Amino acid sequence: MSSSRLVTLIPGDGIGPEITDAVTAILKAAGAPFTWDVQLGGVAAMDKYGEPMPQATIDSIRKNGLALKGPLATPIGTGFRSVNVALRAEFGLYANVRPARTLVPGRFENVDIILLRENLEGFYVGLEHYVRVGDDPHGMAIAQGINTKEGARRIIKYAFELAVKQGRKKVTVVHKANILKMLTGIFLETAREVAKDYEGRVAWDDRIVDAAAMLLVQDPTKFDVIVTTNMFGDILSDLIAGLVGGLGLAPGGNIGKDAAIFEAVHGSAPDIAGKGIANPTAMLLAGAMMLDHIGDQATGDRVRNAVLATLKSGVKTGDLGGKATTKEYADAVIAALK
Ligand code: NAD
Repeated sequence: MSSSRLVTLIPGDGIGPEITDAVTAILKAAGAPFTWDVQLGGVAAMDKYGEPMPQATIDSIRKNGLALKGPLATPIGTGFRSVNVALRAEFGLYANVRPARTLVPGRFENVDIILLRENLEGFYVGLEHYVRVGDDPHGMAIAQGINTKEGARRIIKYAFELAVKQGRKKVTVVHKANILKMLTGIFLETAREVAKDYEGRVAWDDRIVDAAAMLLVQDPTKFDVIVTTNMFGDILSDLIAGLVGGLGLAPGGNIGKDAAIFEAVHGSAPDIAGKGIANPTAMLLAGAMMLDHIGDQATGDRVRNAVLATLKSGVKTGDLGGKATTKEYADAVIAALK
């Protein structure tokens, strides 16, 4: 076993603490080499420090370079920007990695897609303003997007490198270069350059985002690794989560040069918080991605296989049509590890 890594753990809000308990118990049983440095974020941090992402939590992530994050409720009406967007900017987390793999029989049987979303540029830079038209100060809204060659190159290179490392067959570059000829044309142009370095090793193609969305719901097996710009990635990553059973199963990683933050894609689920019935799978699979990230893919695979075996045996939480509580489900996954 590799030596233990100190990891910042943010249990988060709503169902966060419940699923965090389940996830840490399963990872411990799997022998994951993590020691947790527990820190506050979200509403839990607002109550204690008056801000949703306290300096102590940021310092901990900077020191450890690795974090597992529960869902954070965005405090309404306080004017705080999204904590998630702020963390991406703070740590330069340029790659948002979202795998989607069929775990429970559903609409599709064989989905196995990794989507890579550029995480720092595009329309998410927040350069927008209103323009007065006549008496209406909000008569017009203007937004600017920024994509750079450097930003495109590092995420596209990340996609090709991941394809090589994981023995994937194809990278699909998704864009809208027919209309946003410059903003997303630069992404396609950069992909053509980067792809030259992988000739003979990884195949690639490109698709316009609207056509890609249609093909994804018609036949997701046509896709392997997808790499795209920030907003298209935001939309398509939820779409692929829907193809494989929804939010309770969707993990994500935000990767930068010096830090990486792994999380469930879903939010704090206030409607079921405190009831002990939340599905911890998404956050658990985020933990498995973190194991891959530190080079311990064997333990990551053990966790994923135990999840698969548990779901196949019919032990499921309510969101997947089952009756198991969070604790019953976690106990079943732990039993399946053995
Ligand atoms: P949500 O993802 O919390 O919930 C949507 C629906 O999915 C709810 O019915 C919920 O019960 C269900 N659900 C979500 N996760 C589940 C799980 N693990 N097991 C079982 N059911 C689950 O989305 P929302 O209600 O729009 O947002 C609630 C709060 O979470 C908001 O404050 C929002 O800002 C925040 N949020 C945080 C993140 C994050 O931290 N990454 C992401 C999305 C939303």
